[in-house]
Amino acid sequence: MGEWIFAGGTVVRSTGVEIADIRVSGDTISAVGPHLPAEGADVIDCRGRWVFPGLVDPHTHMGIPIKQVRSRDDFASGSRAALQGGVTTLIDFTVWEARQSLEESIRQRQAEAASSLADVSLHANITRLESGLADAIETAFGLGVVSFKVFTTYREAGMMLEYPQIREVAEILAVRGGVLQVHAEDDRLIQEATAPLVAAGSASPRDHGRSRPVAAEVEAIRRLGTLHDVTGCPVYIVHLSSAAGWEAAREENLLMETCPQYLLLDERSYEAPDGHMFVASPPLRSPEERDRLWEGIKDGSIAAVGTDHCPFCRRDKPAGLPFQDIPNG
Ligand SMILES: [Zn+2]
Repeated sequence: MGEWIFAGGTVVRSTGVEIADIRVSGDTISAVGPHLPAEGADVIDCRGRWVFPGLVDPHTHMGIPIKQVRSRDDFASGSRAALQGGVTTLIDFTVWEARQSLEESIRQRQAEAASSLADVSLHANITRLESGLADAIETAFGLGVVSFKVFTTYREAGMMLEYPQIREVAEILAVRGGVLQVHAEDDRLIQEATAPLVAAGSASPRDHGRSRPVAAEVEAIRRLGTLHDVTGCPVYIVHLSSAAGWEAAREENLLMETCPQYLLLDERSYEAPDGHMFVASPPLRSPEERDRLWEGIKDGSIAAVGTDHCPFCRRDKPAGLPFQDIPNG
């Protein structure tokens, strides 16, 4: 059994940050502290480097169908990239295909995830309501799935649930102890913002941002806040994109995740020659929204950062497509 000392790194622990050595015996961390004895161990010099526990990426989409293509990382290639960045656990999403039970959608995704080099867990997408949903959710629990994602938009893709339908899911999860995850952008406000763009023939990458305003995120979050109050179900907002959304979700006591793109990029990227490459949903926001979103990281009210990793090749996102036809990711 191998023995290693990871020596002198800046070690990030739940209790804080310290310069320390880490002794690893086989697959177990056997000691953490300053100046550990190194006899019999291979020493890896970590001075000047950060040493984290294995990171968890709570939001990835390996090899899923979007528009006419598939996201270009499968679990094998995507997990290899994740491990290079220190991510040792991925939480991906099922795809609930037509004529498939919820259980079948989970088992299919688990089979696809078998090629992952990192640990994988799954959230289950609930993109339609069927009779027997409570039993199906119970079965999902037995398969290790305890979080379920719904969409307040993407009606045209057949993925959207109406708010009363989302409440039905929340009521089941409240009883069973599950978490409701929500892609929170209000579809009606998106349609209202999109219609004049379509009428004017405006379909640039920048118009993608205009078609999905901050107000749509805030409206969905407010509706979900009421649903949380009424049902008691924990509600987790995936890929929160705006500071206004953060403030609303904090007031409504919702759980929140954001993504690096909303913390590091802003809508000015859409004006660049390769602006179409930045089309994803929710869209990039103003520099002011981006800067203020960091407050949620600092005060801990944003519980998680996930990548929403959903990669495409350049040929999948050619320049000149109307924003509605660009694969999001
Ligand atoms: Zn996503």
